[in-house]
Amino acid sequence: MSDVILDASVAAIVGSAKSPELCSWLLKRQELGYRNWLYVAQQSEILRLMVKDAEDEGRSDPVSVARHRLALLTQSCMWLSALSEDGDTFEHEDPVAESLMCAAKRIHKEARILTDLSSRLEIGRPFVNIQSIGSEQLENLPITQVHLQAQQDQLRAGLESRLHRVLHHGKFIQGPEIEDLENDLANYVGVDYCLGVSSGTDALLIAMMALEIGAGDEVITTPFSFISTVEMIALIGATPIFSDVVPRTGNLDATRLESAITNKTRAIMPVSLYGQCADMSKINQIAQKYGLPVIEDAAQSFGATHWDRKSCGLSTVGCTSFFPAKPLGAYGDAGGIFTSDPDLAGIMRELRNHGQDRRYYHVRLGVNGRMDTIQAAVLREKLSVLDSELSQRELVARQYDELLQISPAPGLTPPFVRGENRSAWAQYTVKIDNRDHIHRALLDAGIPSAIHYPNVIFDQPAFCQSISNCPDSIEFSRRAISLPMHPYMESETQQRVIDCLRNALRSKNASE
Ligand SMILES: *Cc1c(COP(=O)(O)O)cnc(C)c1O
Repeated sequence: MSDVILDASVAAIVGSAKSPELCSWLLKRQELGYRNWLYVAQQSEILRLMVKDAEDEGRSDPVSVARHRLALLTQSCMWLSALSEDGDTFEHEDPVAESLMCAAKRIHKEARILTDLSSRLEIGRPFVNIQSIGSEQLENLPITQVHLQAQQDQLRAGLESRLHRVLHHGKFIQGPEIEDLENDLANYVGVDYCLGVSSGTDALLIAMMALEIGAGDEVITTPFSFISTVEMIALIGATPIFSDVVPRTGNLDATRLESAITNKTRAIMPVSLYGQCADMSKINQIAQKYGLPVIEDAAQSFGATHWDRKSCGLSTVGCTSFFPAKPLGAYGDAGGIFTSDPDLAGIMRELRNHGQDRRYYHVRLGVNGRMDTIQAAVLREKLSVLDSELSQRELVARQYDELLQISPAPGLTPPFVRGENRSAWAQYTVKIDNRDHIHRALLDAGIPSAIHYPNVIFDQPAFCQSISNCPDSIEFSRRAISLPMHPYMESETQQRVIDCLRNALRSKNASE
């Protein structure tokens, strides 16, 4: 029973003497993560009914009383959009009821409309009365690994408006939102150029193509990452050279990097894992000594900082992903490339668009790697809350840290962030013994968790190499587990997660 729409007649009594409990019931629902809606097409009807009530109560200024009550109501209810399909209901006996049903269906098939009009109650579901619903038990909603819904609820008006603008101007490829977003993002990161591209994977591909990396070349990287990093190195015909990670962070170990450099090395590609940058200063120093470019795979770290400089702007090229679940996520696939090198930026701009420098004139071989205008529209809206979300993620991470410190869990290593870094906290990843058992035990207790990543990349069937110099990466792949992490997490929820985790660890240890 998660979504409820208040029909105008019910909405109008909120704040009046008629139903004091309705107001607190709505707030309670909202607090638990249930959603209350007002249908925007009923706004004037709600106000009209509220004015009438205030007049009946003998209030001296019924209009301002009504406005005040509606403002109060919108603190616990969101506006549900009316779309054009809702208008095609005028031939029905009760067009408003039909429009409401139309709008309700768009939210969810179980969404209900709260009404006290007997003619609508006769229709049956989705129409229900307060009595039937008010007595239902409100339970905590399930815990989720990420919570994009909470973010969407907060940004709904802006998101819908931006999406509709794209729908109306119709420039779905390279529309004006793309350049606006690129400027916003370049400013945010503090580099001269940003290119919107189709995904984080394509960002890596385009960056390496621009650096003319190919067959016979070696690129040094970590084996402990999402597949894309190594996949793109191999796809363009180069050889990935695996160097091990730091046991405390999971990031490429700068102190072991130099021994991997040969005369075939053409680039170094560190990954900023779980939201934290690798030791980019040290990596840049080594790269400079050998005249190598550094490509940061910043797919998980957009918004993170290293010595107060933003991830993506720390090296020759920075590549990020706007996959929906990343710290800055679109509503589909999208990515970004960052650099302050004008020549490289120009080449990459051509590469992402079939190697064109003008229409139908192809100066090089490229790819279709453009970002969709619709994704740029979504990202511009989401960028407006990124910094506050990053602070929230930081608070959630600290709270996890503290809960784990108060009573340490046996066999658990919490995440570690180096002093010069601020993590974007894409994940809160701990290391534990008996990881797969604990993963299952948590799931049984209703706590989701994720394993980033169950295998090092050279062990994947697509590579199947036997490598002996990366024991710390292998240790990570056996012990890492990511707890639910998002900016909208309540501290009670975190307490539940840690309690369950501790129980699972204790019972496993006791059974041994
Ligand atoms: C997500 C991710 C990618 C790939 O990004 P897509 O946008 O999904 O292509 C690359 N590298 C790392 C480390 C990632 O986490």
